[in-house]
Amino acid sequence: MRHDVVNPATEELVQSVELADREQVDTAIALSVQAFRHWREVAPGDRARLLRRFAEAVDHDIEHLAALEVANAGHTISNARWEAGNVRDVLFYYSAAPERLLGQQIPVPGGVDITFKEPLGVVGVIVPWNFPMPIAGWGFAPALAAGNTVVLKPAELTPLTAMRLGELAVEAGIPEHVFQVLPGKGSVVGDRFVTHPDVRKIVFTGSVEVGQEVMAGCAKQVKRVTLELGGKSANVVFADSDLERAAATAPYGVFDNAGQDCCARSRILVERSAYERFLELFEPAVGNVVVGDPSNPSSEMGPLISAAHRDRVSSYVPEGSPVAFRGQCPTGPGYWYPPTVLAPVSVTDPAYREEIFGPVVVVIPFDDEADAIRIANDSPFGLSGSIWTENLGRALRVARGIETGALSVNSHSSVRYWTPFGGFKQSGLGRELGPDALDAFTDVKNVFLATG
Ligand code: NAD
Repeated sequence: MRHDVVNPATEELVQSVELADREQVDTAIALSVQAFRHWREVAPGDRARLLRRFAEAVDHDIEHLAALEVANAGHTISNARWEAGNVRDVLFYYSAAPERLLGQQIPVPGGVDITFKEPLGVVGVIVPWNFPMPIAGWGFAPALAAGNTVVLKPAELTPLTAMRLGELAVEAGIPEHVFQVLPGKGSVVGDRFVTHPDVRKIVFTGSVEVGQEVMAGCAKQVKRVTLELGGKSANVVFADSDLERAAATAPYGVFDNAGQDCCARSRILVERSAYERFLELFEPAVGNVVVGDPSNPSSEMGPLISAAHRDRVSSYVPEGSPVAFRGQCPTGPGYWYPPTVLAPVSVTDPAYREEIFGPVVVVIPFDDEADAIRIANDSPFGLSGSIWTENLGRALRVARGIETGALSVNSHSSVRYWTPFGGFKQSGLGRELGPDALDAFTDVKNVFLATG
């Protein structure tokens, strides 16, 4: 079976990719089990050196990887360069881990008690189509650093950069079968990762529905699982904030990657006294977002990933929707959708409640701090969010009040590879990145040595 990769900005065929079947997955997992026996024994300094070489190989290939992502996913070239650079950075960051995978020595009577952080074995990483490179790297880099082997399944729609990363690993000297990339269907390759008893951990990023299935499947084997799922994050703008800056940056907090971002701030909450002024400032900011050919360095937003996804996004804006204003987008070939602002919206409107995963944002007024926190928390999700205020105490109070995993004050940043990332509530389980991610790829072993 094959999948035809289509350029979402032109609708032209990029490449046809062979999809793995169940037998090929089983073979790959068997090879991964064998490779694990050697990889876990590679001296920490040597494993670190190999990961640094892998990072350097990615660094030398950044332009190529970025061009692949522009063609495959329609990401703007500046985003795609950042994404490839992020894989390099995550590899460098975790290349420092093998020599620092420290255990403890715990005082006990009659002997010595020490702990080891043991690798788990084969780790299955399942990746969505919205950020094919970074999300792959957040899984495989710490997994490999901790001494595991990895089988990785990219999304059906976006296999190209993951396949290239697999080649770069081998070119960099990572031993054969330590890191294998298996393009294929979720119901075949992804499902087999979950059901195969030799896969000891699943790192899943994707929709809540599939995440629930993956978690249920893992439960049958008490398989470790990390889930990074959807979001409906709030951008909370107080009247005492720098309103010009808040309005000028708000489009980029939600329309980056055409809104196909689990961290998209897709609900903008504005204090009632500043609501009208904010909308006046927000309208030209939305109009100024440059939507167009993603290979053009001046483009700020590209197309949606597929025709089917565009249909899904537009279903949230049916005839008669309260469209306050819209930006521009190209006409002609490509899965384009303009930045769209909905206001006022009812709290029962699906556009208010559900993750749209496209360039559609709702703007909602609030009365005071408590009301802002209440509305922000009125969602089954809790992934990211922003708070705009000049009042430091308020920023911290609201940050503590919002049930979400990654917040930024007076900015829209959610992701730094050296700080933890993950969701509250139905946005996920476990944390990626930062120093603690290694715990998700190891089990603690306690050993007591009697000295008496
Ligand atoms: P999806 O759930 O449809 O697919 C995700 C991956 O799971 C794909 O590789 C798919 O092939 C695979 N899959 C599908 N069925 C499977 C099964 N039965 N068993 C195992 N694997 C299976 O999601 P998507 O449409 O690719 O991505 C969009 C979603 O991902 C959005 O909801 C978004 O919020 C979420 N997301 C979350 C984060 C985060 O870090 N929290 C990051 C990016 C995307």
